[in-house]
Amino acid sequence: MTVDTIIHGGVVVTADGKRSADLAIDDGIIVGVGQYKNLPDADREVDASNRLVMPGVVDPHVHVDDPFSIDTYESATRAAALGGTTSLIGFAFQGWNPSSKEFDGSMTLPEAIASVRRRAGEALIDVSVHGAITDETEDVLTDLSTVVSEGIPSIKMFTAYDVGLSNGFINRVFQQLADLDGVAVLHTEDGSVCDTLTDLFKRQDRGDPTDYPESRPDYAEAMAAEDAVRMAREAGTKYYGIHTSCRAAAEVIDSFREDGSQVRAETCTHYTTLDESVYADAGNLAMIAPPIRSPDDVEAMFEYLRDGTLDVVSTDHCAYTEESKRVENWWDSSFGANSLQTGFHVFHDEAVNKRGLSYPFLVKATATAPAETFGMPQKGTLAVGTDADVIVFDPEHEWTIDSADNASKADFSLYEGRTVTGRVDKTFVRGELVADGGQIVADAGYGEFLDRELPNWSV
Ligand SMILES: [Zn+2]
Repeated sequence: MTVDTIIHGGVVVTADGKRSADLAIDDGIIVGVGQYKNLPDADREVDASNRLVMPGVVDPHVHVDDPFSIDTYESATRAAALGGTTSLIGFAFQGWNPSSKEFDGSMTLPEAIASVRRRAGEALIDVSVHGAITDETEDVLTDLSTVVSEGIPSIKMFTAYDVGLSNGFINRVFQQLADLDGVAVLHTEDGSVCDTLTDLFKRQDRGDPTDYPESRPDYAEAMAAEDAVRMAREAGTKYYGIHTSCRAAAEVIDSFREDGSQVRAETCTHYTTLDESVYADAGNLAMIAPPIRSPDDVEAMFEYLRDGTLDVVSTDHCAYTEESKRVENWWDSSFGANSLQTGFHVFHDEAVNKRGLSYPFLVKATATAPAETFGMPQKGTLAVGTDADVIVFDPEHEWTIDSADNASKADFSLYEGRTVTGRVDKTFVRGELVADGGQIVADAGYGEFLDRELPNWSV
């Protein structure tokens, strides 16, 4: 028998450990992991000596062609592939019109998902979306059973901003999702606290970006997390807290988390690799909600990642131009920053090189846990029979981040000028080489839309 590809001579890393082994791929599937002499002949041999061979990154929190991103599915997934990401989950927003880029109420949640399915046709990697509820209608509650049964088992809600929902409505969604065995995905900041402080800062003319973190304090994040996770527990629904940024909010997750069977959470690259001094250095480029926090909060992210309270590290990639950020007052800036291309590199450098966390930990937090959490059993692992989503990684390659290399439509980087060690050499999606040596080598449209399963969190 001859297979399509063998990746040989590398060190294979999974969430369970690492060992010298070769990987055989056929028809987009991993068909063997073992010693080269025991593996079949291959049409293509990839030399991975002095390289790590790992599952591709599964990023469950990415904004693409939505209210928080100017990226298209093509530009975002080019950036993703260069950054080692082989699957991502974006968002389909109820009520948002992708033509006018406005919330005009024209799309129901199922229509919004159908629209993303069309727009995602140009992706280079595999994609799915979370449904995002933005309007408290009876119809959206009814629509949930269709949405969940059609491969979108996770629903995002906000407790802040214009798209924020009341606790009462969130509670009803939780009850519905509990019946459907779906996952509730929550952005938690107390909208009233944040809005009132923002109004006060405007009156006080405190528009300097260094004033921004104080307007969305850690306790506002913890308060909203406390309400949401308590309601989720009462409803018996699976709860996933996104972009945990601070010790106070992680403590809340910790206090409700028993065995990970109902409560899970993520933090993001920027909460583990930057602190609030970034607002003096990078100004409004670092306008992100929740804000980038204190050095102690960064330490807390690693404490809670190590003990398993936080399961996942995502990017929360949002694409904006520098021009939309370079405004006088922070409240006029766009919120969010791009990091699909750099996030895994920066997190690897911080977590593994600087803090001594293991490669299996890195794989677990960036690939295996997100795939398990969101019902993607073919992803995030190198097990025989799963999709051959694989990165070949050079752990010794030292390089400096330069936003001139961005594949995203975002034209800046929060990590501009940062030198990191470790770089993705090759990215394979279902056995196809998509990025090689910093270049995209596959065509737009190679990616597939993933119909996800109901996730099982009891394992
Ligand atoms: Zn986000």
